[in-house]
Amino acid sequence: MQQINLRVMGMHCAGCAQRVEDALRGAAGVLDARVDLVSGSAQVTACMEAEDAFESLVAAVRAAGYDAQAIAADGLLGHLAKAGDQSPGLQQHRRAAAVAAILAAFVLLIDHVAPAAWGHGATLHFGGRAWPALTISRAIQLVLFLIIALGRAGAPILLSGLRAAVRRAPDMDLLVSLGVTTAFKIIIYGGVVAGGQLFIPQPAAALLLALVALGRYLESRAKGRASAAMTALARRAPKTALVTRAGQLATIPVEQIVVDDVISAPAHSTIPVDGEVVEGDADVDESLMTGEAVPVRRQPGDRVLGGTGVVEGMLMIRATAVGSRSALGRIVQLVAEAQASKTRMQRLADRVAGVFTPFVIAVAALTFATWLLLGGTAALPSATRAAVAVLVVACPCALGLATPTVVTVACGLAALRGILVREAAMLETMGGVDLVVWDKTGTLTTARPTVSRIVAVEDREEQSLLAKAAAVEQFSRHPLAGAIVAEARRNALEIREATAFVSHPGRGVTATVDGRSVAVGSIDFLASLGSDVSGLQSRMAESAAEDKTVVAIAVDGVGVGAILFCDAVRPSAAAAIRRLRELGIESELLSGDREESVRAVAGKLGLRRWTAGVPPEGKLRRIEQLRRGGRRVAMVGDGVNDAAALVAADVGVAFATGADVAVESAGVNLVGSAPPLVADAVELARVSLRVIRQNLFWAFVYNVLMIPLAATGTLPPAVAAAAMMVSSLTVVLNALRLPRILGWRRASANSG
Ligand code: ADP
Ligand code: MG
Repeated sequence: MQQINLRVMGMHCAGCAQRVEDALRGAAGVLDARVDLVSGSAQVTACMEAEDAFESLVAAVRAAGYDAQAIAADGLLGHLAKAGDQSPGLQQHRRAAAVAAILAAFVLLIDHVAPAAWGHGATLHFGGRAWPALTISRAIQLVLFLIIALGRAGAPILLSGLRAAVRRAPDMDLLVSLGVTTAFKIIIYGGVVAGGQLFIPQPAAALLLALVALGRYLESRAKGRASAAMTALARRAPKTALVTRAGQLATIPVEQIVVDDVISAPAHSTIPVDGEVVEGDADVDESLMTGEAVPVRRQPGDRVLGGTGVVEGMLMIRATAVGSRSALGRIVQLVAEAQASKTRMQRLADRVAGVFTPFVIAVAALTFATWLLLGGTAALPSATRAAVAVLVVACPCALGLATPTVVTVACGLAALRGILVREAAMLETMGGVDLVVWDKTGTLTTARPTVSRIVAVEDREEQSLLAKAAAVEQFSRHPLAGAIVAEARRNALEIREATAFVSHPGRGVTATVDGRSVAVGSIDFLASLGSDVSGLQSRMAESAAEDKTVVAIAVDGVGVGAILFCDAVRPSAAAAIRRLRELGIESELLSGDREESVRAVAGKLGLRRWTAGVPPEGKLRRIEQLRRGGRRVAMVGDGVNDAAALVAADVGVAFATGADVAVESAGVNLVGSAPPLVADAVELARVSLRVIRQNLFWAFVYNVLMIPLAATGTLPPAVAAAAMMVSSLTVVLNALRLPRILGWRRASANSG
């Protein structure tokens, strides 16, 4: 099974995107497909070989009347990085629109000037004949119109309208084409056959095409701005890298880096791919991935992530993950998928747009018939004009853009700030959350606790306890495990091999070290394994363990000691909880840690709702209970022990640096592990929903209000075209207001 990215050409409204999506879903081997109208791309999940897949998918898109190009799996980053550049498509759009606008202006000018200059009876003489001046001016207008219609501006619209008619899938191009051709017939009839006897809406058709072309250009420019955030994200990966191959140092494009290449990353450079340090020593700014503003020291054996920057020093890195498999690549892929996914409101809007088009055609036909019935053949020009105006003004194209533009802007903005939304529908859920449940260790407290003290029972040796614990913990990814291993390394202890390692999420770990069974975890966990913890408990009571987090050690079923940790509350946690409260959202703390330590953290953060000693199932049950009680719950966690709760919550929020299962289980991932991002996500969701609602309201109300004006002939076709363009643009521009409403102009990855 694999993810395939396609660039789709020729889509311009929600209907188009829907048809391409249906076509892709119908292709053999395709499990799922999502089409993003705004960025003009599609993501397909398919089970087949990549090469075959591209061909059959492109064929499917072509059969639906659009065109597609494959974006190689590892090319998404590059594709997006380039997307923001002035694409040739955009320039063509602009030139076509400009030419059409100038020609249309001439058509309009001739229409106004010619009769006044020459009068109705005037003739011009050449070739020994007298020509009615008006007929000649009409002929010139006709030629100009044909240049617009058959040139770059008009041809794509008319062709696509024709295709829509053939496929019986009415869309906005069909409406415009119908409008143009109806007006055009009248031009021919009036301008050539009847010798200009009738009053004819000649400039209308030309102006209509010019305006639609102009609208397309402005729209694609605005859409480009909407996906700018993704481009910025993709650009964090450098374009080239210094690689040692066959003993030679060479600069190569990042796409050509393969796993196991050794890359040099000098000071002030951005690390191009994920890898392992093989040589060197440097301070690396990882704020993009971890939210920690202070650079971290990286040495041989350490892992580094693509997109992070070397501040000081120099590293040689062996590539371990490249392109779409790297951390940055996955982030970009995730955001691209979210942007292509649909909110529930979007689905509704699509359905409305789908039934709207046939309805509009019916209203236009009715308008035409009514005018003729009431006014006879003399009313033919007015009837045409009114019908054309209805077709044009009712185009549900603003309706189609109302939601996707907001989703694109919102997902992109969020990504730049370090909030990765997996599904657009998450925005809706996140906006409605009224309770946030927090995990403690690694979430509200730092992911990097340190060992503060070791307490040994009777005359056991502290260092050997630490060494045994480290031997077991070297296989665990729990923050406390990391602290134990780091402390053992700092004391230059030998970390022995361990076998039969078992992890009990939220409780502890067990393994066999030097033939002895060692258990490391909470005291309750050791007791549940049947260990004798009485000595340990009395030793703990006399040693001032206060509110510290404690991990106990048992060897061969006897509690022999405990490790106490300094685990600071993240400085930004209190602010995060305060901001949530201001947004009307309560916070609750659920931890697997012991009561003393959880109470202390809750006290520091001013949390009244907290529970200690909660095992993973306990977290899950609590979330379910809260939801049954009518609460809408977001769960924030980082560990394997939070995974079930993350899935059960209305929205699961995981720190992207947390355990893989947690990241996979969550609908929202926070790249900078900062608690305030949760409040940011809620705010963003609420503002996005408000803007989507505004957009849908205006797009819909607009259509409904304009149709009667057009049908009664109050609104000439050209004005209708301009109004339609304005309405689409309003919707797009409204979406672009998001960063300003949120005050996120200078969005950065680390806010806390
Ligand atoms: P929280 O719910 O606050 O994030 P966890 O559920 O991760 O805390 O851990 C709860 C308790 O379980 C810890 O305080 C510790 O005593 C024990 N524990 C969990 N995993 C480990 C581990 N890998 N090594 C030692 N102790 C562990
Ligand atoms: Mg945790």
